[in-house]
Amino acid sequence: MRLKDKVAIVTGGARGIGKAIAELFAQEGAIVIIIDLLHEGQQVADLINSNLGKAEYHAVSVTDKSAIEKLFESVNLKYGKIDILINNAGITRDKTLEKMSEEAWDAVIDVNLKGVFICAQAVVPYMKKNKYGRIVSAASNVGLRGNFGQTNYAATKAGVIAMSKTWTMELGKFGITANAIAPGFTMTEMVKDIPVEHLESIKKSIPLQSAAQPIDIAYGYLYLASDEARYVSGICLTIDGGISR
Ligand code: NAD
Repeated sequence: MRLKDKVAIVTGGARGIGKAIAELFAQEGAIVIIIDLLHEGQQVADLINSNLGKAEYHAVSVTDKSAIEKLFESVNLKYGKIDILINNAGITRDKTLEKMSEEAWDAVIDVNLKGVFICAQAVVPYMKKNKYGRIVSAASNVGLRGNFGQTNYAATKAGVIAMSKTWTMELGKFGITANAIAPGFTMTEMVKDIPVEHLESIKKSIPLQSAAQPIDIAYGYLYLASDEARYVSGICLTIDGGISR
């Protein structure tokens, strides 16, 4: 088991990539704390507890600083440590630059960027105490390349990469690594509204000729969260079928 007895927080673990991460981490021996606003998070935790390992679900928004701080404090009290933070929660509110409302800009910045900042800031004291930590955050290949209709989203994903590099410099001396993952097109609820014809043309444009499944991305998180990645910090691992090359 690659994460035996590690305490891992997974934000956005109720569905999609986060659910795959939560299940994989539990299989690998971690105690998984799922944070999500969707109550399906409870079902994910129940499933894990019934046959994979150990998990808890908490209905908290990553944007709620005081609730996140309280939760992390209680996790540390209960398990004595927090080893891994997976900043996976994210949203989209797509529109071209000219049509994007300030509300859509703020909403995406709040969850994808400020939420990552809030969770990372809240976890660091516990990781410092144990001189051990793995912070892995969801970027996107859009954060490297931009994307039509995603001014707000692309800005947050580029920001996540830059924050991870910054934390690498600030936190390395405490045994804490900080990395980002940049998934490409992955089959989850987030992309469900894309018309079938468009989906097919997207797939054809990918060197590996298919969309990712959530588990393809979860394996990248597993590596960066594991002891095997002890000497890896400040990278952005692209998992996008060969688009970014
Ligand atoms: P998803 O919409 O299926 O899942 C996101 C989860 O985050 C949901 O369960 C949602 O309830 C939760 N969430 C949203 N706001 C939250 C908040 N304020 N507090 C707590 N939880 C919240 O999306 P996904 O496709 O699984 O994406 C996961 C991450 O990967 C996101 O950060 C996304 O930007 C990134 N990503 C996805 C793709 C893709 O193609 N699906 C590509 C690149 C990057």
